[in-house]
Amino acid sequence: MFSEVYSEGSILKDQQLEGKSCSLMGMKVLQKATRGRTAGLFSLIDTMWPPVMPLKAPGHGQTCEEVKTHVPPPSFCYILSAHPNVGQIDIIEGDPISKLYQPPVPHFLREILQTADLSTRCSFYARVIYQRPQLSSLFPLQQTEIWLMVTDVTLQMQDENNSGLPKTVPVCVAPSCVLSQEVREALTEAAPHCFLFRDALRTQGRFVCVERSVLLLQKPLLGVDSGAHSCELTGPVKLSELDSITQVNSICCLQGTVVGVDESTAFSWPTCDLCGNERLDQSPGDRGAFSCRDCSHVVTSPVLRRHLQVFLDCPTRPQCAVRVKLSQTSIASLLSLAACEDGSYEVKSVLGKEVGLLNCFVQSITTHPASCVGLEEIELLSTGRASSGSGHCPRP
Ligand SMILES: [Zn+2]
Repeated sequence: MFSEVYSEGSILKDQQLEGKSCSLMGMKVLQKATRGRTAGLFSLIDTMWPPVMPLKAPGHGQTCEEVKTHVPPPSFCYILSAHPNVGQIDIIEGDPISKLYQPPVPHFLREILQTADLSTRCSFYARVIYQRPQLSSLFPLQQTEIWLMVTDVTLQMQDENNSGLPKTVPVCVAPSCVLSQEVREALTEAAPHCFLFRDALRTQGRFVCVERSVLLLQKPLLGVDSGAHSCELTGPVKLSELDSITQVNSICCLQGTVVGVDESTAFSWPTCDLCGNERLDQSPGDRGAFSCRDCSHVVTSPVLRRHLQVFLDCPTRPQCAVRVKLSQTSIASLLSLAACEDGSYEVKSVLGKEVGLLNCFVQSITTHPASCVGLEEIELLSTGRASSGSGHCPRP
């Protein structure tokens, strides 16, 4: 029989309990959970079934007999919690790690993707190379869904075993997944952290971290061969090219020819040339000069930022309208090709220009009434500190 115990302790304390034999006192049954109603709980129980020890059933008299036949996984689970004041969980000192303990077994992402998707839990080490939204330390992290684009060494390999597999996969971290303070802090840094994703749910072709999934930050092991489950990558991260199986909320790379410009959404705005802040005030008495509301700098030569979406003709996605919101760097390089002698730009002069490779996040895919993909050019997290908003993209 399985039971789940709700404890008031911190996450750290719960991790110290893992694998230990404990005595429980002062417990009450909150609920008898059934497979049909609590699928998330049973997807976790199923990863621990059958037990590593032979099952025993009450026999005649006082003896227990080993059950030799196949036993189906349990159909119910008691959810317990401690009575206030009297309830407690104590580790039984001196007891070795329980023989019943089954730690999650991490697999390479390629192994997981090549096995059937049966709404099961899985564990893997992976490197986060892009996340959305980018979080600030002020962000109310618990209330929002976070998309992490991850990869490992097996997905980055280029060999015949990888045909049909993406080079990166999205992991959705649902608000129900409790994140430790250490993980929250790591997610607010624009750095390509490596995590152990424990008991992520793989369902309908997606990885989702939900309740009972755990993210553990992996510190780089300097000078240590971290073995088969390392998420250290051997070279620069490669992305899959945009094609007909690219999914929404994933990342891809693409190149193509500009066949249109979305003029209705094109605009530009001045920013502070010292701190990059967009909130500028007109300086009194001096037309054309601004003062920055953030750093109080007098901005005499503001940096112009632009919003520009273009339509591309992509050879990997023919018969499809591919709309890309370009980064500042790509806009600047595209417009430098299209500038008129007086410094202005003509829309038609960017038509026919080649762009790419661009790294992009897939925002939308529609098939009706017309086939259309909406993308935003992005900057991957790199090992150096990423500077926000510079829009740099590596080019071949
Ligand atoms: Zn400023």
